[in-house]
Amino acid sequence: MIPINLIRQYHFCPRIVYFQELTNIKPIYPRHVNFGIDYHRYQEKLSKNRKFKKLNIEFYEVILDKYLENETLNICGKIDLALVNKDEIIPIEFKDTGSKKPNYAHILQLCRYGVLLENHYSKSFKTAFISYSNNLKLHKINITPKIKDDFFDTIKKIEKILENDIFPNSSANEAKCTQCEYLNYCDDRI
Ligand code: SF4
Repeated sequence: MIPINLIRQYHFCPRIVYFQELTNIKPIYPRHVNFGIDYHRYQEKLSKNRKFKKLNIEFYEVILDKYLENETLNICGKIDLALVNKDEIIPIEFKDTGSKKPNYAHILQLCRYGVLLENHYSKSFKTAFISYSNNLKLHKINITPKIKDDFFDTIKKIEKILENDIFPNSSANEAKCTQCEYLNYCDDRI
């Protein structure tokens, strides 16, 4: 079963999926990764008491830190935060990074939560929210069929790497590689 956090890894660089899932390499993570984990825990703690009034939507349940699996879709993972109302399921993500508007890789990350949840709760998944630590504004994202198609396309590409044991090509640039924990293992990089 594919852990949904691999979606983010795949979009950063497909080789990370290979290193993480098919090798025994134990990477040493840079400090900013630990900062991100701390920020995540901090937001999780805050969310236990949040009322989400700014979102102006009705809901009757807050999902926090919940693990789900879906055998049909072959995906599994932990849902950090989502709201449930009578019509739909609404994932929310707080990211420790600066951005003026949602980037596509982050939207696909949110899609991973929504797809797992919509199947588990039998509700539709049409909307998500994301907030960046530089301004804490909550950006609303309308989940289109194309976003879901791209999500499932990514899952298929990850499956192909894992099933065929293929070391993938990568278009990662120098900025990505120099912050990557696997740099020492990619012979064709700086
Ligand atoms: S060093 Fe660059 S190419 Fe290699 S896994 Fe990291 S990001 Fe990808």
